[in-house]
Amino acid sequence: MHNYPIGTPGTPWSKEEKKQWRDNQTIKRSYRDEVISRMPQLPFGYDIVQYGALPYDTGRYPLLSIRPATFNPSLPTVLITGGVHGYETSGVQGALKFAREHLASWTDKCNFVIVPCVSPWGYETVNRWNPLALDPNRNFKANSAAPESALLKAMVDDIEEPVHMHIDLHETTDTDNTEFRPALAARDGTSHDIWNIPDGFYLVADSKKVELAFQEAIIHQVRQVTHIAPADEHGKIIGVSLLSDGVIGYDKKALFLCGGLTDAPYVTTTEVYPDSPQATAGVCNDAQVAAIIGGLRFILL
Ligand SMILES: [Zn+2]
Repeated sequence: MHNYPIGTPGTPWSKEEKKQWRDNQTIKRSYRDEVISRMPQLPFGYDIVQYGALPYDTGRYPLLSIRPATFNPSLPTVLITGGVHGYETSGVQGALKFAREHLASWTDKCNFVIVPCVSPWGYETVNRWNPLALDPNRNFKANSAAPESALLKAMVDDIEEPVHMHIDLHETTDTDNTEFRPALAARDGTSHDIWNIPDGFYLVADSKKVELAFQEAIIHQVRQVTHIAPADEHGKIIGVSLLSDGVIGYDKKALFLCGGLTDAPYVTTTEVYPDSPQATAGVCNDAQVAAIIGGLRFILL
């Protein structure tokens, strides 16, 4: 295992070491150019609503949602989140693509709340963590220290209708093993289990409410766009046993994951693999869109 360049192996990072990590991060792309200015023309009755701004730079990082001006209480409500991990580009661009190309054809069937980029500082610096060296996707809890998580949680808690389906759009990348998981082990003074990054798309269900037919409907839809990750030689993906082809489960509320934000009966997290020789940015975005559509078709059967 490689030693991470910050800190002492076996010792959790001090405040100084977290600051050292923060000082090493640089802006690599523009949230304004790639997200804010790509917010789509919206169907009738839908608005872009700002639900907060990141305190590191409130002018640079407004937090944006797409939602109906008025929810129709006779329709199911669907939450779509992307960019909880800012480096996972297709989560952000896939959510925008769905909003741009497909939303209008589904607004008579569901109320949609779409948050394309939960962690814009992470998007710009191509990071999993926020500047405080916190993973937003382990911090969806009361009094969260991660503003990305706290502000999204406050917004979601205020949605006036019960959420029926929540899809959280992610990627699993080669840099998870070369950078982000070693950084996590270094920060916490622990070691990390070794597993190979799966080559292909998979889903993370909520192990407390798997809804396997729902997960399988999404896998079926995505398979038409890209390949599904096979199990490794231990029958696992990222160290977790498969529930079904391309489906694993995590206890989302216990881990304070974004997927645990609601009490929706139908919940999943997509994991697109962008580093496959067979994948392109376009294929990854299409896989995210296919996952959303597969879920919608299932819940509206
Ligand atoms: Zn992620």
